[in-house]
Amino acid sequence: MAQNFYKDTPVQDLPGVKAWCVPILEDEGIETAHDLLHQFPSKYIDRSRMYKIKEINGASQYIQVSGKITHMAITGTGRGQRLTAKFFDGESYMDLVWFQAIDYIVRTYHENVTYIVFGKPTIFGNKVQLAHPEIDTPTSIMKKKVMGVQQSHYSIPEKMKRKKFTSATMRSIIVEELEGTVKRNPIPENLPQYLVDGLKLMSNHDALVNIHLPGNDRLLAEAKYRLKFEELFYLQLKAQRAYKRNKGFVGNVFNTIGDIFNTFYSKHLPFPLTGAQKRVIKEIYNDCRSGKQMNRLLQGDVGSGKTLVATMCMLIALDNGYQACLMVPTEILANQHFETIYQQLSPLGINVALLTGSTKQATRKKLLPMLASGEINIVIGTHALLEDSVKFKRLGLAIIDEQHRFGVAQRAKLQAKNALPPHVLVMTATPIPRTLAMTMYGDLEVSTIDEMPPGRKPVMTYHQFDTNRYQVYDFLKREIAKGRQVYIVYPLIDENEKLDYQSLMSGYEQLLHVFPKPQYNISMVHGRMKAAEKDSQMQDFASGRSQILVATTVIEVGVNVPNASVMLIESAERFGLSQLHQLRGRVGRGADQSYCVLMTDTEISKTIQTRMDIMVGSTNGFDIAEWDLRLRGEGDIEGTQQSGTALKMKIADLSTDTQILHRAHDAAVKIIEADPELNAPANAILFEELEERAKAEENWGNIS
Ligand code: ADP
Ligand code: MG
Repeated sequence: MAQNFYKDTPVQDLPGVKAWCVPILEDEGIETAHDLLHQFPSKYIDRSRMYKIKEINGASQYIQVSGKITHMAITGTGRGQRLTAKFFDGESYMDLVWFQAIDYIVRTYHENVTYIVFGKPTIFGNKVQLAHPEIDTPTSIMKKKVMGVQQSHYSIPEKMKRKKFTSATMRSIIVEELEGTVKRNPIPENLPQYLVDGLKLMSNHDALVNIHLPGNDRLLAEAKYRLKFEELFYLQLKAQRAYKRNKGFVGNVFNTIGDIFNTFYSKHLPFPLTGAQKRVIKEIYNDCRSGKQMNRLLQGDVGSGKTLVATMCMLIALDNGYQACLMVPTEILANQHFETIYQQLSPLGINVALLTGSTKQATRKKLLPMLASGEINIVIGTHALLEDSVKFKRLGLAIIDEQHRFGVAQRAKLQAKNALPPHVLVMTATPIPRTLAMTMYGDLEVSTIDEMPPGRKPVMTYHQFDTNRYQVYDFLKREIAKGRQVYIVYPLIDENEKLDYQSLMSGYEQLLHVFPKPQYNISMVHGRMKAAEKDSQMQDFASGRSQILVATTVIEVGVNVPNASVMLIESAERFGLSQLHQLRGRVGRGADQSYCVLMTDTEISKTIQTRMDIMVGSTNGFDIAEWDLRLRGEGDIEGTQQSGTALKMKIADLSTDTQILHRAHDAAVKIIEADPELNAPANAILFEELEERAKAEENWGNIS
C-alpha cells in the first residue's frame, strides 16, 4: 500500500486537535487526518457580506454586523437575569442579549472596541435583537476564516455535544488542519488522473479544501460535485466488479424441466400463474441452465406472488437432482412458508423440512443428517440455515426472501454451502427506486414481477385521527361480522422501547373491552414473546379462530392471511412510507375489498400530513418508494440500514444526485469492461481504494 500521509497521521498528532478532543474523535471512529477531512459539512452559513442594522428585517437569516458596544446593563435576578448591550454600527442601534454566562461576557467584551457580531436576529417592532451572538474582533475573525465566505457547519452527534464538542470545535480543528498541514502536504489524488481529466473533475486536494473553506460559490459547487461523484463512483465500481465476477462463476447446469415441475404445474398449481410470474420463472430457468452461476434479484410489490415463483424454481432444482433452500428473516415467516410449501409439495412425495432457531435439538439431530445425505429435498428456515452444522449433499439453489433484511455476508455464506456455488435468487418486496437499486444491488441481474394476480382490488386507504377511534372500531366490527379478519399494528420499532411496549399493552387491554369474549377472540404477537407462543397466536389467527391480530412490526414482512381485510395502523406517523406500504400489503390478498386505516394524532406536522396523503393516494410500491426517498433521504429508507450494505452516504444524496450517479455508473462500467480486475497500472489506485473501502466497511459491520 502506498504511503499516504493523511491516512498515516493520527488525530492526536495534529496541532489543531486539543488533548481533550482526541478520545471524543476516536470514539466516533475519526482516527486520522484523513478521517477529519472527510467529515463533510452538513450546511453552510452565508457570511459573504457585512450587514447594516437598518437592512435587517424579519426575513433575515444569519447576519453579521461590524460596530461597537456602547452600553451594557444587567436586569432581573436569578434565573430571570439577563444582560443587554447596545450595539452601534455607526448609523443605528440593535440589542445584544445574553441569558447565560453573563459574568464572562461582562469581563471579556468592552465598550468602544470594534467587534463583528454574528447570529440569527429576532425583530420586536422595529427593534433588532441578537441573542447569544458570536463575537469576534477583526483579528480573531481572520483566524477563523469565516469572513466573506460560506461558513461550513457540521452536524455533531448528541453524544459529542454533551462533551462540549460542537460544530465550532469541529470547524476550528479542520480549519487549522487546512491552514497548516494541508498547506505543507498536498492531499494526494484518489481517482486515476485520466478520470479526473476526462470528466473535468476538481482535484481531490482542491475539493477537500473547498468543501470546508469555500473560496467562492462556484468552487464550492465543483468541490461538492467531485466528492459526490467519487463516493458514488466507488460504490458503482465495487458493484460492477462483483457483477462481472459473478457472471464468470461456473454454475450447476439445470438442463431439464422434468416430472416434478410438470406434475406440479399441471395437477397441483393452486391458480394459473400470472404472465409476470411465468416470465420471471423463464428468466430464472435460463440463468440456471446457462452453465454460469445465477445471481438474481426478484423484485415484486407486496402480494405479487413471489413465493409461488420461489417454489416452482426449487422444483426445477429438484428435477435436476439438486436440493434447494429458502431462507427468510423471521420465524413467523419461516413457519408460514413451510406450511404453504409443505402442503403443496408433500403430495408429490417431496421431502420438505423446517429449520429455525427454535427447532428442538432432537429434531435437529435427525434433520441435519438427512440434509447431508440428500434425503431432504427442500429446507425452509431462518438464519439458522447459515450455521456451519447445516450441510447439504447437493445444494443447487438458494433463495433468500425479503433480502432487504439480510446483508451481503449472509448471501455469501449460503453460497459457500456447496462445492460449486448454488444459484442464488434473492427476493424483495421493498420496492426500491432505480437509483437505489443500482447502488445496492448493482452486482445482481434483476427480474421484476410487474403484475398483480387477477381480481385484486386496490386496498382502500383512510387517514383517521385518534378522536375517531370509536367509529373506526365500529367499522372493524362490521367487517368482522362479514366473516373478515383484522390486523391492528402498534409501533414497536425497538423491542426494548419501554413506552412503546406499554402502549401496545394498554392498547390490547382497551381492545379486550371493545371486542369482548366470547363474541370476539384477539390474538397478539410481539417480539418479546417466545417463538412457540408467537407461533400459536399466529396459528389462531391464520386458522380463523381469532378475528383480530394485535401485532408489532414482526408481521411486517411476508405474513399471508388472505381472509384478513383490514389493516389498522396505530401511530402511523411513526412508520416510514415503505414500511406502511409493507404493512398494508398484508391485506388485499384475496378477492374481497380490503381497507387500511392510518391512525394518527390530531396534531401532526405538515410532513406527516403529506406522508399520509401519499399513502391514501397511491398503492404503487415503487411510487411510494420514490416518495420515501425524496421525503426522508436514502439514509432512512428501510432496509438500507439493516441490510449491512450500509448505504449511509457521506455526501451524495441518492434522491437528488441521480445525474451524478448515472455518470459514476457509466464510468465504472467502462473501466470494468476494459479491465475487470483493475490490473492496469493506471487503475492501481482504484484497486487500492476498493480494498481500503472494503476494510472500512467491515469495521463498521462489526460495530453495528
Ligand atoms: P409476495 O410477493 O408479497 O411474497 P405472496 O407470494 O405471499 O406475495 O402471494 C400473495 C398472495 O397471492 C398469496 O395468497 C398467494 O397464494 C396469492 N397468489 C400468488 N400467485 C397467484 C396467482 N397467480 N393467482 C392468484 N393468486 C396468487
Ligand atoms: Mg413474500
